[in-house]
Amino acid sequence: MFALPDLPYAPTALEPVISTNTLGFHHGKHHAGYVKTLNTRLAELPGVTGTLEEIIRQAEEIPDAKLFNNAAQCWNHSFFWLSMAPKRQDPDAALAKAIAAAFHDHAGLRKAFVAAGAGHFGSGWVWLMSDNHGALSVISTHDAKDMLPGVDSTPLLVCDLWEHAYYLDHQNDRAGFLAQWFDHLADWTFAGRQFHAAVRNGLSWRHPRAFSFVE
Ligand code: FE
Repeated sequence: MFALPDLPYAPTALEPVISTNTLGFHHGKHHAGYVKTLNTRLAELPGVTGTLEEIIRQAEEIPDAKLFNNAAQCWNHSFFWLSMAPKRQDPDAALAKAIAAAFHDHAGLRKAFVAAGAGHFGSGWVWLMSDNHGALSVISTHDAKDMLPGVDSTPLLVCDLWEHAYYLDHQNDRAGFLAQWFDHLADWTFAGRQFHAAVRNGLSWRHPRAFSFVE
């Protein structure tokens, strides 16, 4: 059984970019729903076990769309909550240097991030990624598609592009939501930790493991 991770801040903490109402529904209904369906599907598939990262890869191999979609959405949402912080911050010197190398400056990254997210058709996610040499890129993925840490790619930040993430607060202004998200909520401390793990071949964030009841 996987548990719904607690939010790392108060439900009011991301106001006004993400209202308490949006955050409550997003975490307490949407994310909780993915966790519930994931656990139900896993109970039907006793051969599928391991960490959430391993389960996502097994779901791709089987393939099992229901398992994949719900497992990947659990991973993406848990990572999304950690990609935000209530207090505005700046990237550390090493990450700022990598941002300058890839995007000219912080404003260049902001422009690329907002453009990638606003230009993405339909539901999905916009990610800031690093390879293990510290080269950064911005990409978007469709629906539940994840960007798990791979051999040479590590996610640093993600923003949710599904309408449930912003529609109550920003209606159809996805670009406006992304710009405010980037300016006020992006957690550069978390991104920095991920970046250092990427370039030093360290262990980047992994989803909390499943628990089981001992009879
Ligand atoms: Fe979402």
